[in-house]
Amino acid sequence: MWGFALTEYKIAAIPGDGIGTEVVSAGVEVMNALAERENSFVFHVDHFNWGGEYYKQHGLMMPEDGRDQIKDHNAILFGSAGHPDIPDHITLWGLRLAICQPFDQYANVRPTRVLPGITSPLRSVNNGELDWVIVRENSEGEYAGVGGRAHQGSPLETATDVSIFTRSGVERIMRFAFKLARSRPRKLLTVVTKSNAQRHAMVMWDEIAEGVAKEFSDVTWDKMLVDAMTMRMVTNPKSIDTIVATNLHADILSDLAAALAGSLGIAPTANLNPEREFPSMFEPIHGSAFDITGKGIANPIGTFWSSVMLLEHLGEQAAATRLMSAIERVTADPQFHTPDLGGNARTDEVTQAVIDAIRGTNI
Ligand code: NAD
Ligand code: MN
Repeated sequence: MWGFALTEYKIAAIPGDGIGTEVVSAGVEVMNALAERENSFVFHVDHFNWGGEYYKQHGLMMPEDGRDQIKDHNAILFGSAGHPDIPDHITLWGLRLAICQPFDQYANVRPTRVLPGITSPLRSVNNGELDWVIVRENSEGEYAGVGGRAHQGSPLETATDVSIFTRSGVERIMRFAFKLARSRPRKLLTVVTKSNAQRHAMVMWDEIAEGVAKEFSDVTWDKMLVDAMTMRMVTNPKSIDTIVATNLHADILSDLAAALAGSLGIAPTANLNPEREFPSMFEPIHGSAFDITGKGIANPIGTFWSSVMLLEHLGEQAAATRLMSAIERVTADPQFHTPDLGGNARTDEVTQAVIDAIRGTNI
């Protein structure tokens, strides 16, 4: 070697709870193997033990200055927030949303594809092929956190969750989605809405979509009510390419998409701050999966695919492509399917197979 300096990336690993710890350590192993193979960059991974166990000791999901500790990292690899002994709204708001929202990771991007060797429940509709990207508004809407409860426990009890939509928030996610649609071969975008029933914010959402669409005359777009969209995803998956939807709608649609792609254990996601003022965060879509925690059978593919998105975000396209082909080579072999995919492989076997594929020893 001629002593070229290796690019150094600082990665914050936040495994969280449940199988989050299992899949993130698998992800870090794979990323390090990839860096070794590429030999042009290295990862410095800092591990943060934030989450439910931390909460039990400190009464907080992450330290007060937690965000300061990770704000200068190049990216965050996240596992899952969710602990059997702690209410979900505490774990979610105390960790995952406590990072996403202040870091303004307003674009949540969720690709869905049926990987080689994986059987989609849609196989009878169109050979089980689908290739979608869901863009979820990730900073406001139904999860803005506005609302309250009064008279708790009494018959007069009142509770509200208020959806907040801002023109600037909707415009930026629409623009992001149209740009992403434009970058894909079919240049096709579906704007999901519910403006028949939600007659204020969703009507503004539709109006803004129409306005932004004028900037993207090369993108074909249509509008679909969210309930009808669930049917279309099942009955006519090929008619769909890029999707943009609100925080709540896209949350639901993306679990459906993950199931249609074969398993929740495969699906990746990126929480992007497109302006790069803050680090972006990459995580599998799934949660802590208490039912399989500690059994060594969590599917790590969703985390590996999230690492592909992390590499793309860092601009390491060649490494991203190498990792994605390693993943596809491994899913193609049913011997490496974990129980959620109907097989009996274990997390460490899948991890080792992907590392072998990266090193090119199991072709
Ligand atoms: P879940 O995703 O944890 O599990 C749903 C089902 O899918 C379970 O049967 C589980 O075993 C299976 N599954 C999920 N990931 C898998 C994987 N990688 N390999 C194999 N099987 C897998 O959803 P849940 O049960 O609704 O939630 C459990 C906890 O996780 C809750 O506390 C919830 O709040 C939290 N959660 C966190 C996130 C997040 O941090 N992003 C997302 C979803 C749920
Ligand atoms: Mn969800």
